[in-house]
Amino acid sequence: MGYVFEPQAVPTLAVAGSDDRLPVRRIFCVGRNYAAHAREMGKDPDRDPPFFFTKPADAVVEDGETVAYPPLTENLHYEAELVVVIGTAGVNISEEDALSHVWGYAIGNDLTRRDLQLTAREQGRPWDWGKAFDRSAVIGPVHSVASVGHPAEGSIKLTVNGQVKQDADLNELIWSVPEIVSILSQSMSLKPGDVIMTGTPAGVGPLVPGDTCVVEIAGLGQISTQIGPRA
Ligand code: MN
Repeated sequence: MGYVFEPQAVPTLAVAGSDDRLPVRRIFCVGRNYAAHAREMGKDPDRDPPFFFTKPADAVVEDGETVAYPPLTENLHYEAELVVVIGTAGVNISEEDALSHVWGYAIGNDLTRRDLQLTAREQGRPWDWGKAFDRSAVIGPVHSVASVGHPAEGSIKLTVNGQVKQDADLNELIWSVPEIVSILSQSMSLKPGDVIMTGTPAGVGPLVPGDTCVVEIAGLGQISTQIGPRA
């Protein structure tokens, strides 16, 4: 048996301090997970169970790359996020055991076609066209737990052309990393290479061609993305 055409290469992420690559299986994203961002999106922050959406694994973009301004939108947004990478499979994982399933952490930028997302939200339609487009998941090098531990507090900051747009602390997450991993694993069986973008703080806003967007998280360094001309 052969393939009828060549299978796509496995999407991968850089590993901090190593030439090894980390294969990506799926990308989950948490919706509203910082109270001030929930309010700026016109929603009450609360402890209703978190909700998730996904991006395709091959949407990953690395630190330092240029992303062409995507089609169909007039309102491309940045979203600074802490990214969790699963290294050990599990289902129905307890909060107490959740961190033992984490391989490492990275800095992310959940690029969003905000106009399409809001239209979908109003019409009760899926968010894919707003969230899951080509090259929509900027994720920097993954730092192993062995090297950085489990960041639960510390600055998360985003600038556009040097101007601070988002400035918060990881301790403001409504749902913590152990809670997110546990809840997600009640619904899906998690496997190595599953990536979770944990939600963005307040201050989301537009990017336009020519912008440089930098996200910085204490202990994880910073990542930079350039926005290119329309694709
Ligand atoms: Mn997000």
